[in-house]
Amino acid sequence: LSTLYVLATPIGNVCDISLRALHVLSLVDAVACEDTRNTAHLLNRYGISKPLLAAHQHNEHEAAEKIVARLQAGERIALVSDAGTPGVSDPGARIVDAVLKAGLRALPLPGPSAAITALSVSGLVNDQFQFIGFLPSKARQRETMLAGLANVAATLVLYEAPHRIIETVDALLHAFGPTRQVVLARELTKLFETVHRCPLSEAPAWIAADPMRQKGEFVLLIEAAQAVVDDGAEADRILNILLADLS
Ligand code: SAM
Repeated sequence: LSTLYVLATPIGNVCDISLRALHVLSLVDAVACEDTRNTAHLLNRYGISKPLLAAHQHNEHEAAEKIVARLQAGERIALVSDAGTPGVSDPGARIVDAVLKAGLRALPLPGPSAAITALSVSGLVNDQFQFIGFLPSKARQRETMLAGLANVAATLVLYEAPHRIIETVDALLHAFGPTRQVVLARELTKLFETVHRCPLSEAPAWIAADPMRQKGEFVLLIEAAQAVVDDGAEADRILNILLADLS
């Protein structure tokens, strides 16, 4: 059966690629990737040279059709994203969907994902966690979404780009209150990797204390909500956030 290999790549440290992933990359006929320069760089590092097909969020539909046609012609293709696991806040889902609908097979080659990497060193109770990914960029939408998450009894896992970290941490403090723990996991597996855990009330000052702390890629984890004490105060707090959003 023709197979698409959905293959995880490093999130920073180039050595975090599996032996199996390297083996498959050396066998496939082509590699579908988000950014050809990025993937060429990774393959070069391991002495692998393969035709690259661009498959990013702006051409996912056409890329899916091309990949299905090539698989049907008997080729073996690997799908990678720029970093981590394809399909996790990254293109890939539509391509896999098209492959499955065509009656072909998608085989996962597991490896790093920033969310799971951050969770593993968070020390937060994580028998239940909820992956949120990127919050909406518009403040109102973001606030509404966070208000809806305030009572979720699971660790929340968010992705954030460097230019919005200050804004996002302020929004988290506003939505979840001062006492819950937040973990700021920055530049994981890279040279300036930092994992800092503190109550939400202390997070803005921690970030402000050093401009380096505002740079790079972040995973943010928020401690699960405790069982809600039904004194009405928490409900009022959330209702007020939602009402302010409507006005
Ligand atoms: N597919 C990837 C995965 O499996 O983690 C996620 C891709 S998403 C477009 C990129 C986001 O992942 C970044 O903005 C950041 O939130 C997070 N991320 C990726 N690499 C990271 C790293 N080394 N350290 C911290 N966060 C990272």
